Amino acid sequence: TELSNIRNFSIVAHIDHGKSTLADRLIQETNTVATRDMKEQMLDSMDIERERGITIKANTVRIDYRADDGQDYVLNLIDTPGHVDFAYEVSRSMRAVEGSLLVVDSTQGVEAQTLANVYQAIDADHEIVPVLNKIDLPASDLDRVAEQIEDVIGIDASGAIPVSAKTGQGIHETLEAIVQHLPAPKGDPDAPLKAMLVDSWYDAYLGVIVLVRIIDGHLKKGDRIKFMSNNTTHHVDRIGVFKPAMAEIDRLGPGEIGFLTASIKQVRDTRVGDTITHEKHGTTDALPGFKPSQPVVFCGLFPVDSAQFEDLRDAIEKLALNDASFSYEMETSAALGFGFRCGFLGLLHLEVIRDRIEREYDIELITTAPSVIYHVYMRDGSMVELHNPADMPDLTHVDHLEEPRIKATILVPDEYLGDVLKLCQDRRGIQEDLTYAGSRAMVVYDLPLNEVVFDFYDRLKSVTKGYASFDYQMTGYREDFLVKMQILVNDEPVDALSIMVHRDRAEQRGRAMCEKLKDLIPRHMFKIPIQAAIGGRIIARETLAALRKDVTAKCYGGDATRKRKLLDKQKAGKKKMRQFGKVDIPQEAFISALKMD
Ligand code: GDP
Ligand code: MG
Repeated sequence: TELSNIRNFSIVAHIDHGKSTLADRLIQETNTVATRDMKEQMLDSMDIERERGITIKANTVRIDYRADDGQDYVLNLIDTPGHVDFAYEVSRSMRAVEGSLLVVDSTQGVEAQTLANVYQAIDADHEIVPVLNKIDLPASDLDRVAEQIEDVIGIDASGAIPVSAKTGQGIHETLEAIVQHLPAPKGDPDAPLKAMLVDSWYDAYLGVIVLVRIIDGHLKKGDRIKFMSNNTTHHVDRIGVFKPAMAEIDRLGPGEIGFLTASIKQVRDTRVGDTITHEKHGTTDALPGFKPSQPVVFCGLFPVDSAQFEDLRDAIEKLALNDASFSYEMETSAALGFGFRCGFLGLLHLEVIRDRIEREYDIELITTAPSVIYHVYMRDGSMVELHNPADMPDLTHVDHLEEPRIKATILVPDEYLGDVLKLCQDRRGIQEDLTYAGSRAMVVYDLPLNEVVFDFYDRLKSVTKGYASFDYQMTGYREDFLVKMQILVNDEPVDALSIMVHRDRAEQRGRAMCEKLKDLIPRHMFKIPIQAAIGGRIIARETLAALRKDVTAKCYGGDATRKRKLLDKQKAGKKKMRQFGKVDIPQEAFISALKMD
């Protein structure tokens, strides 16, 4: 295809503003997929994405479109993830295209992720076409939202297209705007091959599938190619495009987006943002710097049934094949036995992986408290990265600790502002900015990541009845007075419940955890002390009284079914428990005990 007849674009939006639905309509309107094969949300492939209505992996589709000017165009849409955890995936796919549709729900207006994502598009020098979606709804207010786009984002919204992705209204205008307003890609067909590795994933039949954007030159089936970051070479055995099903073609030229396969075994061998060229006569000029995505949140995953450890290893290895941003290593815990310490891009990523292990591999898991990476500066001047509170070095050797901080942007209707400020303040936040974006307040806070990883987002949603939106980025490390707090159950430390906490908050957290555990741990035949401690010092204590009677004793003999039911219930409860010394602790206790409310 001629460069002048190609348009590459992405869709940026806040979650639920209609990105996937719009993509579906664009595919349908152009007959890219026969109507009988349409299913909703064509591009959201994994079950968990469908259920939660979020897009996790970037997906792509090539659309053939005959425009009103009579010419045939190739439109390549890259669908980007819409959640804060995957900001890095958004930023890299942005660099593979020249323009963006900015979708804003015209009943809602600009939200935090609208801002975060559109700034990424602006950073990538995109031409941006605003699309005001959901005009079929009575609450749609086009003027207000267009004005907000101009005020808050600072881009011209006079050409914004009113659309209903639901009814199809405005879809033709959107396709025309893509052709008329977005720039064609540039590239040199005669230069040596230079292609950007946009994404990669594992396919059970084809091995690793690599999504590429050709910058210069041509890529053909049978070529020998080289990944410039690590100089590995491969034989290309397939080239193709997504319509959105895979369709093989012979070659890809400048400006085009498509896939290659080359008998690559693991996703880990393909670095997103890497430059691909030919092994011989290749370019020497790699694309400017890429950074591999780094896990920022760590937690332990242990099987409830220790006999399932090998199954868990198998599941984790398989998932890691398809997800280079997920890291893992074996961990042994005195309390939980064998498991894995895993690293994630954020909490949603953690949840997605944990859910997939439980559902797809049928393994019940105990998840320990999520933790961030602390920098521990030793007296001898060295620095150790602490991924797990259980590994905290002996305090006599430690000089000081630093923790990661984030810049959080929250948009919230005025009436909830007070609650949001209180929440941020309670989480050791420092207010940096407070302005108004239309009728909503926009607050910017500097917060410790460790105060956010656990349940900040849930709390934010609950104090604002779901009306706040949130986005964050990491800013760096800062020293603070952090200590390791241990929980002792029946005088034995339960390492899986150890957490790092600010010294000033330790008593309060310790008391709250002991109280929670007292409710979560069932009574035993003996009295159980539950304590929180820093070093050897007890800072909080609760006592769980002993059980006096047999639970079945109150069903005076006669009712055998009732008795049986109670025993069954007890047994079912037991399955989800782990023994610590002489004490059974239910699985849910590990997460519930850490919730702060
Ligand atoms: P995404 O999170 O941005 O991908 O949003 P989705 O495409 O999943 O849409 C979120 C919800 O809004 C879904 O329930 C859609 O059916 C609905 N939706 C999307 N576009 C429209 C529209 O134009 N009108 C109406 N009424 N609902 C829409
Ligand atoms: Mg979606």
